[in-house]
Amino acid sequence: MTPETTLFADDPRMFFPGPVDVPDDAVAAQLKPLFGHRSGRMDELFSAVQERLRTVFCTDSRVYLLACSGSGLQEAAIRNCVRMPHTGARVLVLVCGGFSQRWHDVAVGCGRTVVKDEIPWFEAFTPDLAAAAADRANSDGNLDAVCLVHNETSTGVMHDLAGISEAVRSVAPNALFLVDAVSSLAGAEIRVDDWQLDICLTSSQKALAVPPGLAVGAVSDRVLERAATVEGRGWYFDFLVLDSYLARGTTPATPAISLVQSLLVQLDRILEEGLETRWARHRDLRDLTRRWAVDRGFALCVPDEHASVTVTTLAGPPGWNLEAMNQRLAAADMAVGSGYGKEKGKSFRIGHLGELRADDLQRLFEVIESGTV
Ligand SMILES: *Cc1c(COP(=O)(O)O)cnc(C)c1O
Repeated sequence: MTPETTLFADDPRMFFPGPVDVPDDAVAAQLKPLFGHRSGRMDELFSAVQERLRTVFCTDSRVYLLACSGSGLQEAAIRNCVRMPHTGARVLVLVCGGFSQRWHDVAVGCGRTVVKDEIPWFEAFTPDLAAAAADRANSDGNLDAVCLVHNETSTGVMHDLAGISEAVRSVAPNALFLVDAVSSLAGAEIRVDDWQLDICLTSSQKALAVPPGLAVGAVSDRVLERAATVEGRGWYFDFLVLDSYLARGTTPATPAISLVQSLLVQLDRILEEGLETRWARHRDLRDLTRRWAVDRGFALCVPDEHASVTVTTLAGPPGWNLEAMNQRLAAADMAVGSGYGKEKGKSFRIGHLGELRADDLQRLFEVIESGTV
């Protein structure tokens, strides 16, 4: 047995793009005794986590922790970065699947003026496409923000984040660039400062491999400057409130202390593996999955140049029985992701993120192959 496979008492079972299997020591960390969140122990835990998060996000600025799932930070990003309609301001959402559509719906729900630029599912925004959309939305210079989902988990498309950031900034320099990296951060290469991402947000239960319930987001100085001019920020998600408490090593509301303990264990594991090594491991898992799929006659739903390193969407060969495959997997106590939303029943998604290794995928492939349909 390789040392890696001892992370789990039982073999990983969840091959969907989140929640993922959490290593035993990170699960157990939640059982540590609780303490008051205005105590010195919270200070210590918070500063340990803050320092490691900055390394993992490749940023020198701040990383907020919230007791909510990633969708909460999608909402926080809108509330803090986009001024109300009476100012003439608007936000552009680049939509190419289920989670970018959700961010659009969140922005509409927050009462902002929203411009949607949409391309078909399984396609990607290139830097040119994104810049053209930003240019159109910014014709009067009133575009406050551009929202992009880095890794569209519903389709398995991953965007060129550095290229799109630069292209959008060149046509709309005052627009904040907001990135949902929920299913890619800590799996794919992301450099928040170098790539000038104003917000980069994620959830605990995806590539960080922590139980669900925490949202984590890096936030630039430009965002705080904007937030000071925005009405209707609410309170729970107000970055200015969060920032004043972060300066004192704590949060305005009670933090999810047990989950933060679990996060600390995973951050140490991630930094011990090394960011570059972790990114390369996810690339290798993607390549392994795609090679296996092609060998077995499955169709790849996303071309190589936009293929996600954390999730692969496949369609079965002619006559393939998805239902029968799912039953074989269930009998082996495993599961893959179904097609998302309107793709349900047509394709399926293999998540290869978190602490999964090639051996784990091989076990999955064997079960998928053990039937003829
Ligand atoms: C899972 C996911 C979300 C939603 O995250 P929650 O933590 O469930 O709120 C948003 N965006 C992307 C890209 C995701 O993969």
